[in-house]
Amino acid sequence: MTTIKLHNTRTRTKEDFVPIDPDNVRMYVCGPTVYDRAHLGNARPVVVFDVLYRLLRHVYGPEHVTYVRNFTDVDDKINATALARKQAGAEGTLEQLVQERSDETIGWYLHDMGALGALEPDQMPRATRYIDQMIAMIEDLIAKGHAYEAEGHVLFAVDSWRDEYGKLSGRSVDDMIAGARVEVAPYKKNPMDFVLWKPSDDELPGWESPWGRGRPGWHIECSAMSYELLGESFDIHGGGNDLMFPHHENEIAQSKCAHPHGEFARYWLHNEMLQVEGKKMSKSLGNFFTVHDLLDQGVPGEVIRFVFLQTHYRKPMDWTEKKAREAEATLRKWRALTAGIEPAASAAPAVIEALADDLNTAGALAELHRLASDGDAATLLASARVLGLLEPDMGAWAETDGVDLSAHADRLSRVRAEAMQTKDFSEVDRLKAAYLAAGLEVRMSKDGVELVPGAGFDASRLEGVE
Ligand SMILES: [Zn+2]
Repeated sequence: MTTIKLHNTRTRTKEDFVPIDPDNVRMYVCGPTVYDRAHLGNARPVVVFDVLYRLLRHVYGPEHVTYVRNFTDVDDKINATALARKQAGAEGTLEQLVQERSDETIGWYLHDMGALGALEPDQMPRATRYIDQMIAMIEDLIAKGHAYEAEGHVLFAVDSWRDEYGKLSGRSVDDMIAGARVEVAPYKKNPMDFVLWKPSDDELPGWESPWGRGRPGWHIECSAMSYELLGESFDIHGGGNDLMFPHHENEIAQSKCAHPHGEFARYWLHNEMLQVEGKKMSKSLGNFFTVHDLLDQGVPGEVIRFVFLQTHYRKPMDWTEKKAREAEATLRKWRALTAGIEPAASAAPAVIEALADDLNTAGALAELHRLASDGDAATLLASARVLGLLEPDMGAWAETDGVDLSAHADRLSRVRAEAMQTKDFSEVDRLKAAYLAAGLEVRMSKDGVELVPGAGFDASRLEGVE
């Protein structure tokens, strides 16, 4: 059996992955807060952990892997939208309007991530369905002396776990107090103490609890849901490296204190962030866009996925239009090469070896390039599918729907030759504009005319172009 090596944030080394139970390999990944469309950066962990999920299924068998990714549907931004709708006269209770907003956003999320070829996790728990389990865990933490109630809040007492707190991200509690922006509140015993439960007023959704009507803090949901669905010890915990502190530190503190005999997660994986054209993506820089925006502009989901896979998950990834164009050209070539071919019985060993080496997706793509240049279409197809590429249901964008592009190129070439004589180029311009509008790149040289499908090529737009 292939040995997978993974870089474990907890030990800061690349380790052989040894599952607790090879018949049930368990992975938990922190999912999105569902208040709006996912931006491109949100999609990175989805693709990274989808590749790991596919690799685990490949090595251990699809029925022996359990992947859980949560939806955070308790959040002030969701509340704000729901409250605005209620004040505008929408029907239903605030809790119902919150749920309506979350349902809508979850639908968008699953659609957009599906377009990137991400398999749906086995379980996608929503925080609001696990409130009872969170309350039980908080009560347990209070009973064990790791949490305390103050002014309607319940806080985790960091001092009760002082020697362990901060180990994942490699800092001491004193360093954290000095360096972090912590919310100072008079009822906190230590400024690093974090909220497990907080009170809700009438304008906020809330649930009855031993501490009054309120709602859970963010961190407790992952501890409660991972325990409920995967047990007190599981294999892999993943997320973006922006979650390492405080979110993951707090998850560890809660889970290990509530279940002192469990290990919580053995292997911690963190992906690096995403940039756009060399800059951090932000609304103020005007380079902020969602996955939906890109899909809408005609960038195929498979192309986005390919660009992501070119960079190792522990390195910052730079999204550029140039990379997207090149990825599209490569995929178009590979799709043409593998059209009508049955995939080989197994993927190329070199592709699996690259992935098993801490998800070296760039190395795996290099192997795919090699297979393509060797003309081994069947192995290329089988290997690409381990990476979630060249899947049959993701290729509609690359189809020319039987349109004969060379006939169009010949027509433009003929019209151009006539225009050279008459000096009237209006017909050339008209045709060229129609081809560009269909997403074709028009290359004219003295040797002739070539029409190349570009980003967003839509064969249906060529109907009626005469
Ligand atoms: Zn989490």
